[in-house]
Amino acid sequence: MPTPVFRFAPSPNGYLHLGHALSALRNQEMARVAGGRVLLRIEDIDRTRCRPEYEAAIYEDLEWLGIEYERPVRRQSEHFGEYRAALEKLVSEGFIYPAFESRAEIARLVSARGPDWPRDPDGAPLYPGNARDRSAAERERKIESGESHTLRLDLQAALALINKPLVWIESGEGEEREIAARPERWGDVILGRKETPASYHLACVLDDALQGVTHIVRGLDLYEATSIHRLLQEILGLPAPAYHHHRLILDADGRKLSKRDPSTTLRDLRGQRVSAADLRRKVGHSSP
Ligand code: GLU
Repeated sequence: MPTPVFRFAPSPNGYLHLGHALSALRNQEMARVAGGRVLLRIEDIDRTRCRPEYEAAIYEDLEWLGIEYERPVRRQSEHFGEYRAALEKLVSEGFIYPAFESRAEIARLVSARGPDWPRDPDGAPLYPGNARDRSAAERERKIESGESHTLRLDLQAALALINKPLVWIESGEGEEREIAARPERWGDVILGRKETPASYHLACVLDDALQGVTHIVRGLDLYEATSIHRLLQEILGLPAPAYHHHRLILDADGRKLSKRDPSTTLRDLRGQRVSAADLRRKVGHSSP
């Protein structure tokens, strides 16, 4: 059997918190049990929100926690050309179309559709426009005249390619089981923008395949995203890894942790002289 490959893939858009510690520790623990490798990937495609000091803190936090990973570390910002090439391929295959509405126009269209207009699992309204129906000539004319646009997944075209049940193997918080993916809940998601050449969804599935990742261990907040990841893997002809979505760590009020709250960021806890062993116990991973 090939060696299992795990990865921890944080975004340096804030300081890591207890939930990230749980993810990193669970990756390390599952890799140890499976005799696997652990990779670190810096998901820094969003140049407006990612900052070098957050990335530096990731390395320090992981060292403090005792997380070991292979070098070199893959930084997504160094691979924009690869994501762009994948986007272009999907455009030429008819799985992506350009949409020209601004954010304000989308908001107007959504409010015109009434309060029952469906939302994706992250709470954003599904794309309400009709850019998919524009002719190739019209699209080209608009792009050539410099109109700004986003690149959206043509969900219908992608689903038409799937000729077997779209599923994933899930082992998080319970027995291993097969989960039916429901990509239709996401609508025609954005896969590329002018300022960020690939969305998280696209860069993530491309890199997981390129790095030979076989096991994806991450928080339950990304459980629903797996539906769209599975669909992208199919249209891109990429293998399907196994998934393990672990529980989230919530604050005292039952809310998701924030990368800005000093009571839960790893950097602040380190500063308060909390020991790594205490922290492992706090997130329920007392074994080193
Ligand atoms: N970069 C994502 C985050 O920090 C995680 C991506 C993943 O594990 O698939 O939320």
